[in-house]
Amino acid sequence: MTKKIITRFAPSPTGFLHIGGARTALFNWVYAKKMGGEMLLRIEDTDRARSTQAAHQAIIDGLNWLGIECDGEPVSQFSRADRHAEISHAMVQTGHAYKCYCSPEELTQMRETARAEGRPPRYDGRWRDADPSTAPMGIDPVIRIKVPSDKEIIVHDHVQGDVTFKTQNLDDFIILRSDGTPTYMLAVVVDDHDMDVTHIIRGDDHLTNTARQIVIFNAMGWPVPDMAHVPLIHGADGAKLSKRHGALGVDAYRKMGYLPAALINYLARLGWSHGDDEFFTIEQMVEWFDLDGLNKGASRFDFVKLANLNGQHIREAEPAYLYKTMLALAKELDEQNDVAGLEGHKETILKALPDLQPRAKTVLELLSLAQFIYAQIPLEIEEKAQKHLTDDTRIIISQVISKLETLEDWQPDAINALIRQFSEDIDLKLGKVAQPLRVALTGRTVSPGVFEVMGLLGKNESLARLKNQIE
Ligand code: GLU
Repeated sequence: MTKKIITRFAPSPTGFLHIGGARTALFNWVYAKKMGGEMLLRIEDTDRARSTQAAHQAIIDGLNWLGIECDGEPVSQFSRADRHAEISHAMVQTGHAYKCYCSPEELTQMRETARAEGRPPRYDGRWRDADPSTAPMGIDPVIRIKVPSDKEIIVHDHVQGDVTFKTQNLDDFIILRSDGTPTYMLAVVVDDHDMDVTHIIRGDDHLTNTARQIVIFNAMGWPVPDMAHVPLIHGADGAKLSKRHGALGVDAYRKMGYLPAALINYLARLGWSHGDDEFFTIEQMVEWFDLDGLNKGASRFDFVKLANLNGQHIREAEPAYLYKTMLALAKELDEQNDVAGLEGHKETILKALPDLQPRAKTVLELLSLAQFIYAQIPLEIEEKAQKHLTDDTRIIISQVISKLETLEDWQPDAINALIRQFSEDIDLKLGKVAQPLRVALTGRTVSPGVFEVMGLLGKNESLARLKNQIE
């Protein structure tokens, strides 16, 4: 029987779920799904000063919104501190680790000497082979791992290939602090082992940590999980991702009107490719995903590409889903007018959506495009639309009103035929008639086709809006 694939997402709860973290979670989740395995969630909350419950919740909410479901209950790394300590003591017993009694002053001195001699500032191993009976009284030691001398640690990485680290460049790092708390390096390894993690997919900023973690796996005789270190996301200008570049929490993307499917699609493309496919669903990604398709080169975050993909996902989405998303966003942003309008005109909005979808790149744009449906008379006319309402165009509007009043069959096709005929009769291009009508009916210069707009609004409301503009 082949071993069950287990991946994990291991965020530190010190802020929101940022897009880099979301992408890491996505790759772990997709790989587990593809392989019929599980993705576990481990909250790396050992930094008590910086870890908050709010950040923990933001990570869970962010994952939920993206539709990334973790298997089982989240594991708190902090709650496992006793187990981490136990392993460090076991390593002392087996001779793979040792107690070090150096004082802070000694360590400072060590660093300064190394620097003065032009060597990298490393721990010099003075307690590595010391006789424990020489231990000073009244000092709580740290525990350091005995990194094997003059060996090579090779990280076999699915993205980076084989990366070799010489052990003489890794000093005997601390695994348990003098207050008995584990270091990150130890906690990660013990947790990954105890959680039966088979594959670690994370940012390539962790690559050098991996060499140290392999020393711990080896000391314990534990199998080293498969590794895939994914290049970090950079800004559009190639610099480290900052807020200005889009290094925001996924909730910020929700509030900007991105669909989770689009954000997932975009994040996936930033680090993984499947031929030339740009647009895909998460189901397709699960079908196509392969660790070897992860890109080695750094990627650049590009808002324009994200918006274009979002537009495509909006076009493909079901109106009922979009309606729900629009309403949730209006509520989240506390746009009372939109909430009332959406709730009061659900059927009309559902009918209008197929016309609105191709015109919007974000859910916010969709909301704005839908506003004409529940706009109240007198309509607010957007500034750039006002030039279409002049004495001359008001005359045209009033003539159209008399024609429309006689129309029995209030359907876009019939309205279309009537207005085309009218334009021909008065020898004006259709646009010259349609645009003032559009402005009078919607207050905007951009909307679905003016005949569709009238169909959606119905005869009474359409005529009332037109009349209001000539009064
Ligand atoms: N907690 C670490 C971070 O947020 C991740 C550790 C890991 O994936 O091993 O960067």
